Amino acid sequence: MAGKIFMPEGYCVKCKAKKDIADGVEEVMKNGRRAIKGKCPVCGTVMFKILGGKAVAPAPSAPSPASPGNAPSQ
Ligand SMILES: [Zn+2]
Repeated sequence: MAGKIFMPEGYCVKCKAKKDIADGVEEVMKNGRRAIKGKCPVCGTVMFKILGGKAVAPAPSAPSPASPGNAPSQ
């Protein structure tokens, strides 16, 4: 199974399905996390996949990003 670079799977919002990311390139974001940026092989929509893994710096004390009922009581 010799290929070129590994082809990560991403979710295409246009096809509404998982696709192999085409032309994927690894990028390091500002926060030090790595991600794969590429295109959907079917429709060409840009796909972005964040590579998890490395638990180098676990968010110190970040509240869940999406919590609608989080009203400050003051
Ligand atoms: Zn697509």
